This record gives sequence, C-alpha cells and structure tokens, in this order.
Amino acid sequence: MYAYMGIVSRKKAEIRLALRSKLVYVSKRKLYIIRRFYFSKDSFSSKSTVNNSSVFAAFMNHIFGPVNSRRLGRSLGVDLFQEKICTLNCIYCEVGATTRLTCERAEYVPTADILREIDEFCSQPGRVEELDYVTITASGEPTLHSGFGEILAHLHRVTAKPVAVLTNGTTLSDSQVRRELLPADVVIPSLDSALPESFRRIDRAANCLDLDEIIEGLVLFSHEYAGKLWLEILFSRGINDSERDVKALRQVAGRMRIDRIQLNTVARPPLESFSRPLARERLLEIADQFRHDDPLRPVDLLATGAQQEDPEGAQQKFDLAKSADRKALLAEIVDMLKRRPCTAADINRTFHLGSSDKVEQLLAPLVKEGTVQQRFHGDRLYYQ
Ligand code: SF4
Repeated sequence: MYAYMGIVSRKKAEIRLALRSKLVYVSKRKLYIIRRFYFSKDSFSSKSTVNNSSVFAAFMNHIFGPVNSRRLGRSLGVDLFQEKICTLNCIYCEVGATTRLTCERAEYVPTADILREIDEFCSQPGRVEELDYVTITASGEPTLHSGFGEILAHLHRVTAKPVAVLTNGTTLSDSQVRRELLPADVVIPSLDSALPESFRRIDRAANCLDLDEIIEGLVLFSHEYAGKLWLEILFSRGINDSERDVKALRQVAGRMRIDRIQLNTVARPPLESFSRPLARERLLEIADQFRHDDPLRPVDLLATGAQQEDPEGAQQKFDLAKSADRKALLAEIVDMLKRRPCTAADINRTFHLGSSDKVEQLLAPLVKEGTVQQRFHGDRLYYQ
C-alpha cells in the first residue's frame, strides 16, 4: 500500500541491524510506525510470550490479515505492491492518492518476495485452516503486477483455499490479463460508471484508458470466465448516481454474465471530501432496478452492516495481559489500518477484543502519540 516499510525485502542482516538499532520506518503519509512494536528485545527472545504467528507477521510486507471481510468471510490478503500503483485515482479511494497512475504492467516488487511470503504463511497449516478465502488485492490495481498470473497459480498450488481477486476491471481489455484471471475462484471487478463524463469525475482514469474498451473487456471476460463473478458498483452522491448513470450501468450489466451485483457507496473516509455517500433509500431504489432486470441475480448492498458488533463466542488469540502479545496485537491492528480506515467495531470484528470500547481504550495511546489518527466520516469515527 502507500506505506513503504522495506524491511522484509531487505537482506536478513539488514533486518537484524534495523531491529537492533530500533529504526522506525514511517509511511509516506506519516501515519504509521508499525514495526516499532516489534523492535523490543522480548519480541524476539526465545522466552518471548508472543505467539509465533504474530512474530511471523512482522516480516510480512505482502501478506496481511486474516481479516473478517463482509464478502469473503475470514480472508487472508495478498497485497502485490508497496506503494499505490493504479490505473485510476478514484475520488472515494480509501488507500490515498495514486502515486503512480499507469497502465503499464511491470514487476513493481519482486514476484519471488511475494511467493516466499505466501510459502512462509502456508507453512503454518493451523493458520491456513482458519481461512475462508485468500484474496489477491493491492494498494492499487493488482493485475498491473506482471507476476500476477504466476502468483495466482502459486496460491492454487500451495493452498486448497479458494482464491478471490479484487480488480478495478480496467485491465480486462488485455487478453493476457483475462487469461491470467481465469483460474481464480472469485473475481470481483468494479465499474462505477458507463458514461464517460461520470467515469472521468469519479475514477479519474489514466490517459491510456478508454471507457468503451474497459466495458468491452468486462463483457468479454464475463463470458470467458467460468468462476464466480461479482460486479461491484460504487456510487457517490451527485457524481454517478443519476437515472442516466444507473440506466447505462444496467445496460452493461445486462450484457454480462454476473453471479452477483454488489452496490456500494462511500462508507469510509474517502480521498476527496466531496465524495459523499448515497442515502440508503437511493441505494435501495437502485438495487430494485437491478433486481427488476434479473430477479434471480442477487443484488447486495455492501454499505450496510459495517457497524455490527463481534459475533458472540469469537475467540481472541492475544492475551492482553502479556506485554509481547499486546505489542503484537497493536502491530497487526496498525498493519490493517494502513490498508484501510476502520471503525472500532470493524477492528473488534477482526480481533475479537470483546467490544468497541475495548478497542478504543487499546488504541488511545497510539492516537495520543500520533501513530494512528482518528477521522470522522459521516457520523462514524474511523482510525487510520
Ligand atoms: S481502483 Fe481501487 S485502488 Fe485504484 S484508485 Fe480506485 S479505489 Fe483506489
């Protein structure tokens, strides 16, 4: 994502040196100092009480989670980048501004580094067992990584868990990308507008993109692909939610083979403050229009339910009475926050801390020292 913390990709000796000297790597947005929580001696001592999986996570730059995803259950993320490389610079993006706006496919980080982290995670069968999905995503558009196909194939070799891919869909006009995506179990492309003016306003695409080609790529892929295809559409009030917009999107959806349509709106702090959420009533109206077109095709509203509390009986894996476990937990939370802003309820659903209040208490020192920041979006308080 936007944070560059190149510890993992450095040689082991450099890592040890960094650990010894307690170096702190700060993200480009100066928000995160994640590794500092691992830099205490006890975290690496053989007597450390921190659980192995947490120490493991300290050396992962491309593997995150597992997190409880609304769509995919308990999902392990594989992030192919370390900066935001994307074909779009969407006004609602949660990651931040695109640092490299491009259509060029390249090995932006070494494929071998990503494969090695996947293998390291998969060497812990207990951790793999608890997953519902492995999700390939990126701080940007994952199919821009030229090793994408190899990484997806590798995941299928080393784990029996289904693999989902989140993509903005803009590269599907490339037949090579479509071929590489075919082995995925679930592909979730997005399309926010089928009208050039709205597309330009909401997604702010790289000059190399053409909306008609993107749409043709999506339609082609939907008929070539045999796995589950869920089309996500994110609406921003006054930007891409007019009747004309919705009609054009319904026409494109009508040409595609889609298993589910997932409607979303701005639910987390967006890149641009003028990107505002739709009222729930308007989302429901739009959902009804898509349902009218195909009553058998499910239409989900992704923007609801974000504040649900943790399910009863969920087990937390950290013992907060132990200092090393506490540090490891904080590091995992900060790692999650650098990928997306979360409410206390979101964090509680992933880490099972008992309640949102406990999350707020735990994060208070990090907020005070500036490692984590708070921001209101609508009536919700987010950590990022
Ligand atoms: S496609 Fe995704 S990562 Fe890229 S700018 Fe849009 S929301 Fe952000």
